[in-house]
Amino acid sequence: MTKHDVLILGGGLIGQTMALALDRHGLRSVVVDPVDPETTLTTDFDGRVTAISSSSWKLFDALGLGPLMRGQACPIARIEVRDGAAGAPLDFQSDDDDDALGLMLENRVLRRALWLLIQQAPHVTRRYGHQAVTLDRGPNGVTAQLDDGEVLSAPLVLVCEGRHSTTRAAAGIPVAAWDYASMSIVTAMDHSLPHGGTAHQIFYPGGPVALLPMNPGTRSALVWSLPEADAKAMAKLGERAFLAEVDRATGGLLGDMRLVAPRAVYPLQFRHTAKMTDHRLALVGDAGHGIHPIAGQGFNLGLRDVAALTEVLVEGARLGLDLGDAQLLARYQRWRSADVMAVTLACDTLVRLFGIKGRVARAVRRLGLGAVQRAKPLKDLFMSEARGESGALPVMLTGVTV
Ligand SMILES: Cc1cc2nc3c(=O)[nH]c(=O)nc-3n(C[C@H](O)[C@H](O)[C@H](O)COP(=O)(O)OP(=O)(O)OC[C@H]3O[C@@H](n4cnc5c(N)ncnc54)[C@H](O)[C@@H]3O)c2cc1C
Repeated sequence: MTKHDVLILGGGLIGQTMALALDRHGLRSVVVDPVDPETTLTTDFDGRVTAISSSSWKLFDALGLGPLMRGQACPIARIEVRDGAAGAPLDFQSDDDDDALGLMLENRVLRRALWLLIQQAPHVTRRYGHQAVTLDRGPNGVTAQLDDGEVLSAPLVLVCEGRHSTTRAAAGIPVAAWDYASMSIVTAMDHSLPHGGTAHQIFYPGGPVALLPMNPGTRSALVWSLPEADAKAMAKLGERAFLAEVDRATGGLLGDMRLVAPRAVYPLQFRHTAKMTDHRLALVGDAGHGIHPIAGQGFNLGLRDVAALTEVLVEGARLGLDLGDAQLLARYQRWRSADVMAVTLACDTLVRLFGIKGRVARAVRRLGLGAVQRAKPLKDLFMSEARGESGALPVMLTGVTV
């Protein structure tokens, strides 16, 4: 039997970042995933571009990921939000040129950087291409048997299996779950008008359209959420017809466009767990909270889980505590629950608010956007949320290790 400090189930973006964060503090983990991350490095596997908040980027810097990726990320200098393409924009702009609101990063770039660093991490054991067939959480520790017969043990299991986590279900953790009956079409375009570092979010009752700046300055990612049937039909349109629809929905913001990536379609679901911990178990990332991508917050929320849990476990280890200790897990639960609840509900409320059809609803929304545009304290509050700088920040979100 091989003993580790932590057993991590799920080696996606969050599971690997978690392993790396623990490694940087000398804690030994074993990562189990039926999929080998090396097979996930192409745009065919994941063509998404993720908005990384500036505090999340500081975590990347603390882990050594930041320098590997910075040149490939595109800073967001300004965000414009509209109710329909004709609505007046509510804009958020950083006062300081060096202080971007966040960075747009291709998932494939992040996956490659994680893969590189995990291979060199001395305290991470990889068990890719395998899954746990049994998991026993006993009074003194956790034991898992893999499908090849290997037995792993640790004081604590971290569940990073994404929103459809089977370990979470087996642990009986209650989940509030629903489907939005919507899908996001994701792709990227080159265009004739420069984006100038501006991200656009345009709301329609059927769902928001986001244009997200990429490098070079005439390339943007598109995340277009639509009712399921419309999304499927739109994904099948020929390139010219599809781009004509994008041009109409975005009010011609980008000029002439051409697709530079295949179109991928993602179903949109809501998952909120009643708790993020159980006996010798913690949920991290989408396994603990699956939210609508309306505000580009899901992965950032997961990174805040990683930073908080790393801090709790590293401090516990320094005090010589059992890493599965109920008090440590209670601290993680307390630290993360308010932020997770606030972001989850805010995103769900936005989806519903902008989903209400009709002229009156639209007029009220435009009034609300206009009021925020004129109220500096409110705008500052939204900007600090976008940067991920509100609430009690774990130290790794300031760019240093614990
Ligand atoms: C269209 C779209 C756009 C988005 N844009 C943004 C954005 O701009 N900003 C942002 O912050 N977030 C964004 N998100 C959210 C973000 O993509 C997710 O929050 C993030 O990918 C979650 O990572 P994860 O590792 O928790 O889960 P996943 O990526 O789902 O990874 C789970 C891993 O667990 C493995 N696994 C599953 N079951 C098991 C098992 N039983 N045992 C072991 N391993 C298992 C899987 O193979 C996988 O590798 C977006 C999401 C969508 C759909």
